[in-house]
This record gives sequence, C-alpha cells and structure tokens, in this order.
Amino acid sequence: MPQVSLDTEVRYLKGVGPVMATRLARIGIVTVKDLLFHFPVRYQDRSSQGLPGIADQQTEITVQGKVVKFDNLYTKTGKKIQLCQVQTQQGQIQVVWFNQPFLKQTLPPHTWVSLSGKLKPFNRQLSLISPEYEIINPQSPQATVHTGRVVPVYSQTEGISSKWLRRKIYQLLKQVNLPDWRDDQPSKLPDIAYLKQLMPLQQAVEQIHFPQSNQLLSQARARLGFDEWLIEQLAAMDRKQHWQSGPPAQPLPCQADWLQQFVDQLPFKLTSAQERVIQEIHQDMAKSLPMNRLLQGDVGSGKTVVAAAASWVAIKHHRQVALMAPTEILAQQHYHSLQQLLQPLGVQVSLQTGRTKHVTPDNQAEQQLVVGTHALISPGFTLPRLSLVIIDEQHRFGVSQRFELINKGQRPHVLSMTATPIPRTIALSVYGDLDISLIDQMPPGRKPVKTYVVPEHKRADAYTWLRQQARKHQIFVVCPFISPSETMESVKAATVEYERLKKIFHPLPVALLHGQMKGQEKDTTLQQFREGETRVLVTTSVVEVGVDIPQANIMVIEAAERFGLAQLHQLRGRVGRAGEQAYCLLFTSLPQASQRLKLMETTHSGIKLAEADLKLRGPGQVYGLQQHGHWQFKIADPY
Ligand code: ADP
Ligand code: MG
Repeated sequence: MPQVSLDTEVRYLKGVGPVMATRLARIGIVTVKDLLFHFPVRYQDRSSQGLPGIADQQTEITVQGKVVKFDNLYTKTGKKIQLCQVQTQQGQIQVVWFNQPFLKQTLPPHTWVSLSGKLKPFNRQLSLISPEYEIINPQSPQATVHTGRVVPVYSQTEGISSKWLRRKIYQLLKQVNLPDWRDDQPSKLPDIAYLKQLMPLQQAVEQIHFPQSNQLLSQARARLGFDEWLIEQLAAMDRKQHWQSGPPAQPLPCQADWLQQFVDQLPFKLTSAQERVIQEIHQDMAKSLPMNRLLQGDVGSGKTVVAAAASWVAIKHHRQVALMAPTEILAQQHYHSLQQLLQPLGVQVSLQTGRTKHVTPDNQAEQQLVVGTHALISPGFTLPRLSLVIIDEQHRFGVSQRFELINKGQRPHVLSMTATPIPRTIALSVYGDLDISLIDQMPPGRKPVKTYVVPEHKRADAYTWLRQQARKHQIFVVCPFISPSETMESVKAATVEYERLKKIFHPLPVALLHGQMKGQEKDTTLQQFREGETRVLVTTSVVEVGVDIPQANIMVIEAAERFGLAQLHQLRGRVGRAGEQAYCLLFTSLPQASQRLKLMETTHSGIKLAEADLKLRGPGQVYGLQQHGHWQFKIADPY
C-alpha cells in the first residue's frame, strides 16, 4: 500500500474516485489532513449491546450474529422488503430493510454482521428495522466502525454519506501520524500545567471522531480548541512582526492648532469617545512605526468624522489619503460626507469608483483625499504621496486587496474601520496584530430604535400599523438573508416580497433595491426613496453596509431568526438617523427563536449583542467573522 501522509491528496486514496474527489473538494476536503479535520456534527450512541425488553423501542441497540436466512419479498404495491434472520447469542432475531434488494448479495447466509438499530414490531414480531449494518469477522475480532459504539455523524452533503466519511476516516486514522507541536521540543515548552494535561493531538483527533467516553471527548475538544486559538494567535503575532519589520513610515504629528481648526468648523460637537479615538489615531500617526489600527464603532457612532480628522493631519503634511469602501453606494456616501466635513478647510475630495472616469495622471499628483471602491487598487491608479490608507468595512476586503492599496504608498499609516462589533476575547486573538480603538458612545439625541419581535399571528396587525405609518414615515423591508454575500436566491426572495408588499401597501408606492441591479437603476431607486417619492423600500441585506436615508425610520426584517443579533443591530442602525423615534419589527415564524430575538428589544449595544451571539450560537456565528480570512475555528469557544 502506498504511503499515506497528511498532505496526500484524497484523490490518490484507495476507494476515492475522481467523482468523489470532486465532491469532497466542494466541501473543502482536498488532503488527508482536511479529511481528518472534518469533524462530526454530532454523535449517535450505538454502544448498547444485547436485546432490551419490548418497552424500550427508543434506544438503538447493537447485536452481532450470523445471517441464517435472507429473503426479498415483493408486495402488491411494488415495494420490496428484505427479511433477514440473524442468529445471535441471545437467540434469533428478525431484521427488516425496505427497498434494498441488493442486500441479499451483501449479506448472504453465514455472513457475520453487526447491526445497530431500533426494535419495532413488524408482522407481529419484534424486529430490527432498517438497522445500520457492517460485516464482521468473528475469527479476528476487530473493532466495529458503524455499530456497537458511539458513532460520529457528519453533515451529509450530496453524494457523500456519513457512513462513507466514517469508514474513510476510521481507516486513515490507523495509517497516519499527526505530528504534535508538544512533542517537537518538549524541553522548550513553558512550564504550564494546562499545556501538560492537554491530550496528544493524535488521540484528540481519534477521540473527536470515535469517542470512547464523554470525558475523552471533552478532553479532545479542549485540545483541538486550544490548537485553534494557538494557531490564530501565532498568525496574528507573525503578521505583527512582519508589519513592524518593514521600513519606517513618515511620522505625521498633529499640531495643536490643526485639530482646533478642524473641530471649530464641525457642524456638531465631537463625542468624548470620538475625541479619545482621534487622539489615539493622531498619536499613532506621529510615529515612524506605521499605524495599523482598527476603529470599531456601531453604525451611526460617527466613524466618518474620525476618518476625516485623520485625513486632515495627513493633508496638512501635504500627503495624500485614500479611503476605500466595499460598495459604490458607500463610497459615494463617504465622498459626500467627507466633502461636507473637509471642504470648508479647503481640502479637495475626489471620487474614484468603477463608474467614475479615471482621473488623468496629472490630476492624480494633486489629489488630496480620494474616496473610492476597489477601483482604487487598479494598476493605472497611483498616488505618489500616499501616506494614509483608510479601509472602511475592512472585513469585506480580502487580505490581498487591502495590501494592494497599502502598497500604493510607501509605508502609509493604515486605519481600518468596522461596524462589526467583535467581542473583545475574539478581537484580541483574530486581530491580535492590530491596535483597537472603540467608539462606545452614540452622538447625543439619538433615541434607541424601539424594537419588537412580531410572531406570525400578529403579522396582519403589524401591516395595519405599517400602512398608517407609511404616510408619514419611510420603511425599509429587509428580506431573508441566505448567505453572507448576496445571492440570486436572496434577490429572488426580495422580488417576491416586493410583489406581495405592493398589494399590501397599495396605493402607496413601493420600490425594490438589490445588488444585482444596474448602477444607474440603483441610483434612481435610492434617489426616489431619499426624496420620499417611494415610501417602502424592499431590499436584500445590501442596506446593511450603509445606505444613509435619515428620513427612513422603520426597519422591517423578515425571517429575523436567520440573522445574528449583532447583524440585526446593524440593520436597525440604518433607521432613525434624523433624530425621530425609530422602530424595528422583527418578523419570525419560529417561536423557539423568539427568546434570542427578544434580546433585541432590551439591548442596544452592538458589542453586547455580539457577545450574546457568541454565547448563544458559538464563535462560528459571530457576525462578520465568517468573512474573516483567518477564521478557522471549528471547536474553540472562548466561553
Ligand atoms: P458610522 O459610524 O456609521 O460611519 P457616520 O460617520 O456615518 O457613522 O455618522 C452618522 C451620523 O451621525 C452622520 O450623519 C454624522 O454627521 C452624525 N454625527 C457623527 N458624529 C456626531 C456628533 N458628535 N454629534 C452629532 N452628530 C454626529
Ligand atoms: Mg460609516
């Protein structure tokens, strides 16, 4: 048998054809290692041996014995029934399958089998119905894989059964050795009791697939979770070292009168949180170690003015600033806001998106602050004096996109911004290479959005209320979220909802907005909504990334249970920006989701909601992290 190592591609394994290899690749399994780290979603206890009494028909039992008889029966209705008699130590037992006539060849008389299933009456006889089976050899007793033990159940995808995965993983675990970092240089390991009592990696992977006891399983989870955190933190440290090892940046210290000048012309007074983070940013920019800071703040907390304050200092130093946003809509909004904030100071703000024309090279040299989409990273675009890069909604960009923009300058300072509230425990590890600033305060006068969970039986009442409101106020309706990025399915769902709501709100005008629409069409739709011509805007989750319509103050979310709390919070942050009382209705037809959703009625801090998500749904569900490139956690749970 050829040598199998962790890096061996699964397509070279015995019993994996090209078709199977393609299916496996689809769920991210390419190598043996991927397969071994494809963990079960749950377990089934098939360890109970023997024949319990008639009363217990709920527990699966396992019996072993010899096939004595196998018959295929054909019913009048065309069904095929397999009746099999198995001789066990406890006596003979009838086994029944349906529509699997080929089993007669697999399990001819004298075959030894192990069977796991439930006992139910069939033809007035207590029988094992459709049990899982596996052939065993009584001469060389071998541990069973699918029966007679706690067996792993993997999420089933097309063409890859749980049983197939179980068998393959079982075989592989016998063939490969998982190197353990703890064995590498044990003498160098820090003297930490926790490290010493961690289960060896090989055993942990074995136990996570085929646990011998609950205790061993939880030790396995502890070990594997530990490794996930460790890898994440090492990667962050590595990124940090890399960042610090490059050439120095130009220090851009802020003179006291510059900040005063900036603050004096603002149409509002900065919140103390904004003042604090501006201070933190300005301190970073004054250093020759380039800033690498993440600015976290809820939707509406006022990150744009902070970005403007950072830009202002760079521009005063005659350097250039680039601000990149993930969508056209967002880029335009930033462009308008930054113009309002900085034009009074004589700063030139320009816009660079896929739709705006490329500025000529002559102009490029003169630009001060360029706002744009990923069009900013196109090769033809240069900013020779780029010293500050600002990336909004940074997790929406890939690592390489961020670096392409950063590399347009000579070690620019970098400010990343996000409205994604990342719980501190996670931020410290995932973003361990970044310094973090948090705006934990809303501008004054902002009333929390009144939020109600609306069960299905109250839907009609809700529409009556909404119809009344729509005369005075504007309404967003966000349709079911299907995947993190907008898909055709969510577009379809929005279109269907749009048709339905047109009738409900008739004669009030309703409009539809989604990411698949052409730019021009999108603009017109938004413009009409902004001007109040349309009263209801049905959208996919595109609005979440920042459509600023201050007059819209009602947010309706369909199938709210599909969203994480932090994400719902971001969505509702889209309304009530004009200072009026805003409302958010969370429709759900799942009563069991109500308790979680009810938190939205009482909690108005993004970070708190994100921590609740983390607690209730686990780290895999923390909003925004799925898109995070390094997010590999399957097991680790900071709680
Ligand atoms: P976000 O953090 O979501 O990007 P924005 O920067 O778009 O938030 O700010 C939201 C709104 O709040 C804008 O209309 C902005 O002008 C306003 N704003 C920001 N800071 C203040 C403040 N200190 N006082 C009053 N309004 C503010
Ligand atoms: Mg913003």
